[in-house]
Formats: sequence, C-alpha cells, structure tokens
Amino acid sequence: MFRQSKTFLSKLKYLRVRNREVGRPSSTSAAERALQYGVGQKIHGFTVRQVTAVPDLFLTAVRLDHDVTGAQYLHAARDDSNNLFSVQFRTTPMDSTGVPHILEHTVLCGSRRFPCRDPFFKMLNRSLSTFMNAFTASDYTMYPFSTQNAKDFQNLLSVYLDAVFFPSLRELDFWQEGWRLENENPTDPSSPLVFKGVVFNEMKGAFSDNESLYAQHLQNKLLPDHTYSVVSGGEPLIIPDLTWDQLRNFHSTHYHPSNARFFTYGDLPLEQHLKQIQEEALSTFQRTEPNTAVPAQTHWDRPREAHVSCAPDALAPDPAKQNTLCVSYLLGDITDTFEAFTLSILSSLMISGPNSPFYKALIEPKIGTDFSSVVGYDGSTRDAFFSIGLQGMAEEDLQRVQGIIRQTLDDIIATGFEEERIEALLHKIEIQMKHQSSNFGLALASYIASCWNHDGDPVQLLKVSESVSRFRRCLQENPRYLQDKVQHYFKENPHKLTLSMSPDEQYLEKRSLAEHEKLQQKVQALTDTDRKDIYEKGLQLLSEQSTTQDSSCLPALKVSDVEPTIPHTPVQMGTAGGVPVQYCEQPTNGMVYFRAVCNLNTLPEDLKMFVPLFCSVITKLGSGGLDYRQQAQRMELKTGGMFVTPQVIPDIADLDLYEQGILLTSSCLERNLPEMFQLWSDIFNSPRFDDEERLRVLVMMAAQELSNGIASSGHMYAMTRAARSLTPTANLQETFSGMTQVKFMKRLAEMTDVTSVLRKLPRMKRHLLNADNMRCAVNATPQKMADATVEMERFMDNIASTRKERKPVRPVIVERPLDPHAPTGSVASRKLISEPNFKPCQLKTYFELPFPVNFASECVRTVPFTHEDYASLCVLGRLMTAKFLHGEIREKGGAYGGGARMGGGGLFSFYSYRDPNCSQTLAAFRKGVEWAYDGKFTQQDVDEAKLSVFSTVDAPIAPSDKGFGLFLSGISDEVKQTHRERLFAVTHKNLTDVAGRYLGFGQSTCGVAVLGPENEGIKKDPSWVVK
Ligand SMILES: [Zn+2]
Repeated sequence: MFRQSKTFLSKLKYLRVRNREVGRPSSTSAAERALQYGVGQKIHGFTVRQVTAVPDLFLTAVRLDHDVTGAQYLHAARDDSNNLFSVQFRTTPMDSTGVPHILEHTVLCGSRRFPCRDPFFKMLNRSLSTFMNAFTASDYTMYPFSTQNAKDFQNLLSVYLDAVFFPSLRELDFWQEGWRLENENPTDPSSPLVFKGVVFNEMKGAFSDNESLYAQHLQNKLLPDHTYSVVSGGEPLIIPDLTWDQLRNFHSTHYHPSNARFFTYGDLPLEQHLKQIQEEALSTFQRTEPNTAVPAQTHWDRPREAHVSCAPDALAPDPAKQNTLCVSYLLGDITDTFEAFTLSILSSLMISGPNSPFYKALIEPKIGTDFSSVVGYDGSTRDAFFSIGLQGMAEEDLQRVQGIIRQTLDDIIATGFEEERIEALLHKIEIQMKHQSSNFGLALASYIASCWNHDGDPVQLLKVSESVSRFRRCLQENPRYLQDKVQHYFKENPHKLTLSMSPDEQYLEKRSLAEHEKLQQKVQALTDTDRKDIYEKGLQLLSEQSTTQDSSCLPALKVSDVEPTIPHTPVQMGTAGGVPVQYCEQPTNGMVYFRAVCNLNTLPEDLKMFVPLFCSVITKLGSGGLDYRQQAQRMELKTGGMFVTPQVIPDIADLDLYEQGILLTSSCLERNLPEMFQLWSDIFNSPRFDDEERLRVLVMMAAQELSNGIASSGHMYAMTRAARSLTPTANLQETFSGMTQVKFMKRLAEMTDVTSVLRKLPRMKRHLLNADNMRCAVNATPQKMADATVEMERFMDNIASTRKERKPVRPVIVERPLDPHAPTGSVASRKLISEPNFKPCQLKTYFELPFPVNFASECVRTVPFTHEDYASLCVLGRLMTAKFLHGEIREKGGAYGGGARMGGGGLFSFYSYRDPNCSQTLAAFRKGVEWAYDGKFTQQDVDEAKLSVFSTVDAPIAPSDKGFGLFLSGISDEVKQTHRERLFAVTHKNLTDVAGRYLGFGQSTCGVAVLGPENEGIKKDPSWVVK
C-alpha cells in the first residue's frame, strides 16, 4: 500500500482515547506497572532511557535503546487489550523507481523461517488480528499489526520480524510484486511482451486519481532538494528501471535495526516483547551507520511557479471548470513539536468551517467547487508546509485566486481571529482526546511516525494538554501571537510555490504512448536468449502461482482459541415523549453519544433522490436564531459534530424487506448535553431554507467530493451497481450512494439556479424530521444516564410540534419489535417496507471512465442473515478469497486486490480493485465458484477461513458504538450468538453444498458491473449496457 501525506489535525482526529478502566481501581493497571521501570535498567539487550506518565491518554510511555544496534523502542503501556506492534524504517529513496514500495511488498513474500509463499496474506487467515498491513510513506515504511489475543501477538510478531529482517527477496517475488516483462499470454511465446507487476499496476491506478497526482507533484516541487523530489511509491514509467540487485541492496542498507523504530502498545507485558525481538531478530546484528537522515530543505530566496497536466474528469460538475491552483508555503521542522502544534491550530483557524477567513474568501464566492485536494497544514515531511487553493476553477480565475489569497493573509494579519473560534478549536481537541476509539494503538503509531522518523521526541507529542496550556499562555502574553506567525510564515516567506493543474484531453493517450515507448525500448534491447528466459520465467511464475503451497511452517491459532460466546451488551428500552429510546450504559469517559433514526415511509417518491443531499445540508444551513456561520461555531463549541446520513437497512430475515431512513448522529461532553439537544431542536423546528447561495456552495462541494471518490473507491461503486437489480434494498442503496447518485449530483451542480432544489427541502423536512417516525439511542456513563433521560424528554417536548400523522407512501409495511424480549404487540417497533413482488433480474453494466484500470464486480442474490446457510456463505467468501481469488486476480492477473464476501443484505459479492483486465477477472469469479464446488480444499483451509471471519466478527467495538447493531438492524445478542454457533459448525460439505446451490450457474440471479476504460469487446457484446 502506498500512503500519501495526512495533515496533523486529520491525524489527531484518529487519536482517540480508548480506556475501559475509567472509574475502576487502577492499582494493577498496565500504565501503573510500567511506571516501575527505572532509567538505565537493562532488559533483554535494551536499556531504558525514559519513563513518562501521560495522564491525558491514560498511558505510560517507556523509551528504550537497543544496546548493540542502537534500534529505538517506544512502548505505550495502557489498559487496552487491542495490543499493537509496529516497526518502521526510515526509507529515503533518491529515485522514482518505487524501490521502498516494491520492497515493502516483496518482504512479505516469504522469509528465512517462513519460506512459504506470501506468509503475510496467509497469516490473515491464521490469526485473530484486528489489523494487519504495511505502508510506504514518502520517507518511512511501516509494518503494523494489532490483536487482542496474546498468543496471536507472539505469532504475528515472529512473522513480521522474520519478514522485515530476513526476507527471501527471491527474483520471482520481485517479478510478481514489482514489475516484469512477460508474454501477454504467458503460455504463448509468440504473444506480445507487456509490463506486468502488482506495484506497477497499483501505481498506474494511483496516478489516475487526480487528487493523488496533484499531491505528489506538489510535494516533489515544493521540496526539490532531496528524497521528497521523487515518488517513493514509484512513477509507473520509471518503475521498469529498477533491478532486483538494487532492491536487495536497498533492503540491506535500510531494513537494519540501526535504522529501525519499534513501537508497542497495550496491556501485554513489555519484557516479553523485548525478549522475543532480541532473540528472533536483533541478536544477530551489529551496529551500522544507516545514513538515511533527510537534511532540512534549503529555503528559496524567491517564490516559484509550476504547472502540471492531468486527465479530464468525466464526472466533473462543470467540464469547463477543471483547473486546480494552490499556493504552498514551506514552514518549519516538524520535530519542533510545539511550533508544529501551533501551526496546525493556525491552519485550522484559517481554513476550517464556514467561519474561517479562507472559506469566506475562496469557497463562498463560488470561484471553484471546493478547496484544492491538498489544503492546510501537512506535517508528514521533515519540513512541514501549508497549502491553500481551489479546485474546479475556470482558467481565467487563476490570477484572481492568487490575489484573494494574498489579500486574505493581509486581512488575517490585520484583524486576527475571534476568541470564540480559538476556544471552539481547543474544545475540539479536548473531545478528540476523550472520545474512545477501538483502534487507539494504530492511531498512536501513525500519529507519532513522522516526527519520530526525523528523531523528534514522540513522547512530547503525546502530551497534548501540555501543548494546549502552553498555547494559551503564548496567546495571553502576546495577543498578536498568531498574527505574528502569519506574518512570518506566510507574508514574509519567499519559499512559496504556486502550482496549477489543468486537464489535457490527450493526457491518457500521452501516458499510454510513453508507456508504449518505454516498453519498446526494453523489448528492443532483448536478445533471443533474453526472450526465451522471459518466457520460461513467466511459465515458472505461473506454475508457482498455480501450485498449492504448504504453509504449515507458519504459526496459527486454532478455531478452538476463539471464544465460544459473545459478551452480553445490556441495554434498556424506554420512551421519551412517546418516542422509543434505547439506553446503553458504557464507560464513555465523560462523553454522551446520541443517535436517532427517522424513517422515510411517508416521503413522496419524487423526493427520494434528494435524500442524500438533504442529509448533507440539513446541519449546515443555519437554524433557529443562528445563521449557518453561527450554527457551525456553536456546533464546534458544544459538540463533537452533528451528522445526518441516509440509511437503507436490510431486514435480517427477509431479502425483500428493508427499513429506509436517515440516521442522526452527534456527541458531546457531558456538560454540554442541553446545548447539543437545543441545536437538534432548532434543526427540527426552524431550519433555514432561505439561502440559495449557501445551498449552491454545498451542492458543488458535495458533487466534487463524490466525483473525486470514484478513483479510490471504484470497487464499492461497482459492487453497489452490480447488486442493484437483485434486492429492493440494494436498489435503494444504489440510488443513495451509487453511480446514479454521482450522476444526479453532477446534474444539480451544473444548475445555475438551485432555487427549485431549495424549495424541495422544507417539504422533505416535514416528512423526515418528524418525531412520529423516530426512534433514538443514547450511550453514556451510568452516572450520567439519568441526566440524559431528562434531556431526552425535554428534547421530545421541544420537537412535539413536528409530529403529524402521515400516510405511508408504500402500502405494505411490516413491523419488527424494537425490543426482542418484549411480548409481541406490546411495544414500539421499526416499520419496514415490504416488496413481495420485487423481481430480481440479471443486469450487466459497464461505466466507461477515464481510468487506466478496472474495478469489476459480480453479485449474487442468496439468503438473509438469519438463514441457516448464511454462516456457510460467510466462510465460503473468505475461503475463496484466500485460496483461489487472491491467486487468480492479484498474483496472476496483476490487480491490486480482489476477492469475495458475503454482505448483510444477503448478497454474495465478487470484486476486483485497480485491475488491468476485467474479462479475465470476471472469468476468475466463475472459476472460483467451480473450484469451491469441486471441494479441492482441506479442513485446514476451512479452519483458516473461519478464523478470518471471526477476526471480523470479534473486532473491538468502542463504547460509543456498543448496542448500535441492535438499535439499527435489530441484531440482538441472541441472534449474534446463533450466527456464531453456526460459524463454528460449518463443515467442508456445507461449503461445497452452498457453492453449488447458490452460486452455480442458473441457480440464482446475479448482476455484474465494471468501471473502467473504453473496452471494445464489451461494446460489441449486446449483453452489456454501456454507460
Ligand atoms: Zn502497495
């Protein structure tokens, strides 16, 4: 995987506390035990350097060095069972061959102790990991995993250590993962030679995404003196210059303990980790001088400008407006953690939300569709930078925008920021620290990665409230503190890049021509012996990929290691003003979480299409006495955000039954509960629908965001589309979030006057924000629940006027009780729509898009969640993915990813991601079914697939989300337990049986959809609908 930069605040968003020990005596907590370590203490080849309590995050940080190699180590001890390990290396390439990225892939292909093919992917099925991955950033490569099981932790640690320090790095692995010349048809030596390779295709895909392309160019040009001037992921046209030798050489210099940083997190004891790391890896190494440091960027003495081209965006809201421009400023060294903190806050004040000066100056005049994809503070490189600009602009506005940017900076220097906005931002930081997430270890690892990579102090970075107090002091001492920073870093800074990007109709043609030339160059240089060699290696690779390999060298958990029963989540059912409310007491660390579902049953059909738009704007138009700016400010000051999203919820027992609604979500600190409900009351009672200009801005931003998302989530769009004709649920889901919605929003964004849309909103509001169609859920601490109940009552009183009995549009409504334990007919229920006459049909749709890669999907209608075969289909999806489809679609086909999975709506879906060849993949889906039906897999394979299903089923759930499945879909603990028991019971015979019964040709109805480049074969085939 290739990861591009993330800004400081967007990282902070993931830095959320998970602490299940709040309120409990903590005398034996992991954090307290870790405080016992003494500086200078020797443990298994390491020496303790620093022990620091970080009470904000309920953890103790222990820093150590490895005595012989100098490897650095940070342990964060915390009472969280979701333990995490990560090792990162500073990888600073000086060319764009993608050597760190290809290395990241290749080390996962087998190692000294685990010489089988692809141990990494195999471990996905032999473990209960909650996360396993590897990332290549611009200047480091990171290998993290997390798991809640101690034995699993040791197993995964062995595999990870061996992979990074003792990989096999075979030539064939390099060929498969990196790049190779191969006969188009490997078994036919007369077929033309073409480029293949997983990373080669992955990067072609990444470069087809205009947002990534722009971000890449920007970094390369703003930081041109060292490693940031190259593409660490690999520029597709340069990747074929990399040799196997260069790859091995890069490994030996960069993947050395002296260039490594280890991070562990959680409640498992540190000693055990150190012992294992020492024994299995570090003890065989001596110290080296890795020489991988990145020097500070030399500051320019005058600003620079640059221009780049991209492919036209077929889905851009306005085809004449596709220019991007942004101005970037080099800031300071990210290892100065307080300065970095200040600058990231400054950045948010400048660009976040409708009250920020750049939002007012750039977004509201509607010069472009949205901010440029790179915007704000970016601290992922050694020198941080700040960018500001727009996308979706007409060419003639480029100059004007630069003038506005200069003027806005001057205005900020002159007037500064309102105190209330600064308070709102600091409140946001407080909420982010209190909110408890289920993957806190991973969030920490990526939060500290960049700063630590350049030898900054990772522990200092964790002391967030220390930074907040220091920031407040600076503001007190100097009221112009922030304005002076703007003066210094922006106004007086000559290291400034103005980068514009515009579409070129010939862009893709030029790219493929350049690729063709590169290919010719390589091919012409070949001798007959080379060609013969290529053919033979192609066959060898194919035969290796086709043989089943013995993976018994790998450690594995057993199905018997999985807990037989799920923990019970108690909830109380109540009512407030007649509206059903589910209360769930949880250790939420002083936060309250509110959710509500309002059904769409009375909404006229002609307004359905507008539901996603209604959701995205209803909390952003102003309400009650507040205009949209004041409303946004209030939300920032008093809540953790307020969101509304469309929901299509499949019934768990009937495929032609579903609930349609919108979901309201918000959270707040306990002290702000009344204010949060006041904001919702205002939205229910008096939302503002009078500002056409405001609506246009929001429509444009929403359309741009949808259009930008396709290149990175194409497989989701393909799956949603393929499912559309199979169930009424999937049909409505496609309307709300599929290509239909993307095209609909594009049309709205093209309208010069959205008054007609604006007029629909109050009509919709009467149906959607109606207390009669509503049910609610609250998660809070036991101590706060009584207050929450009182506030719920008051809220329902306040919105009582919205109640109006209306007739449902569809006649057939089926009721499902909210409380599964209550006697039937006695309590509140969810009202589902039944479409007994829905006729599933076969449909094949092709979306022609300007991408060089495909996203393909096939979906099959099977059975609902409570059906006895559902568990077998879940296991079958994992089994086919791991044992067949991965090999066919990724290893042989060269796609970045592909597989099959069973979905909650009773649809079994196949998919591929960034795929060079769709017809071969569609055939592989079918071959997968035959393979499963033939039953040529072992009991071990079945057990592995089960483990992999359980690792998802048992993924940790944050206190804020406990009980949510019951609330939303009616999945009770009993239903979950039944599903669990069925998963345990799945046999080899069940799997071949369901493969034949549901997935075989002619057995069920299936749909197919592909997003990809122009495809002559499909155009000629009348069975396809080409869009
Ligand atoms: Zn990758």
